[in-house]
Amino acid sequence: MRCAVLTLFPDMVAPVLGQSILKRAQEKGLLEVSVQNLREHTFDRHKTADDVPYGGGAGMVMKAEPVLQAVDALRAHYQAAHPETTLRVIIPSPQGRPFTQELAQSLAQDDRVVVFVCGHYEGMDERVRLALHPEEISVGDYVLTGGELPALVMIDAAARLVPGVLGDAASAAEESFTEGLLEYPHYTRPAEVRGMAVPEVLVSGHHEAIRLWRRKEALRNTYLKRPDLLRDRELGSEDRRLLSEVMQESLVQVPVR
Ligand code: SAM
Repeated sequence: MRCAVLTLFPDMVAPVLGQSILKRAQEKGLLEVSVQNLREHTFDRHKTADDVPYGGGAGMVMKAEPVLQAVDALRAHYQAAHPETTLRVIIPSPQGRPFTQELAQSLAQDDRVVVFVCGHYEGMDERVRLALHPEEISVGDYVLTGGELPALVMIDAAARLVPGVLGDAASAAEESFTEGLLEYPHYTRPAEVRGMAVPEVLVSGHHEAIRLWRRKEALRNTYLKRPDLLRDRELGSEDRRLLSEVMQESLVQVPVR
């Protein structure tokens, strides 16, 4: 996966990329992230990248030309080595479509260079959007100070889906959202913590029983925490049976007054 982050605040981005799994993914050549400072594409000696909004009002607006020049320079850089290279431009925005596991998968598989153009302050001059026709993607219905954290969220979610990035490919295949369900709970040693024992089945060594327990607990987690994920979902006969057990057990737990 190749990506670039265009930002006025590279120091918000680079340290996160230098840690843990993202760091190792880059060392292994599975992830390439270029962090570019938009101020390098300003023209005055103060490196002005923002200005007051036309029409008045609070806050500052990022100027269009530094952003457009940065994207042009990036495209030229990649095409100098491989003329067929194209860019997938993403503007993180609270007005965008919601980021999902499916979108993460599509970023992980994309042959294009994924470019995150990070807004800050009140956002960017609208002409950036009109010129670049970017995808606008939101990480949730709340407003952050800038697009840097959303860009990192998207890179992180996508990078771990690139084959070879996680030690065990099964961990990405089994976890929450991959199959439209939340994942089952995990336990590790010791077998007892403050009087709470690990479920017996997990130490039974019985693979089929463990598989069934995990499936049922995944259905329970989804039913109790995100029932909306089960709506309109076609379940196989085993899932239907397990879910009906979960529903029965949940009813039993409702205290009757
Ligand atoms: N004035 C903008 C609006 O009301 O739509 C919000 C600007 S916000 C303070 C500054 C930047 O943070 C945005 O340009 C965007 O890049 C980023 N941002 C803020 N919230 C976001 C979210 N929920 N998802 C993705 N990006 C977000």
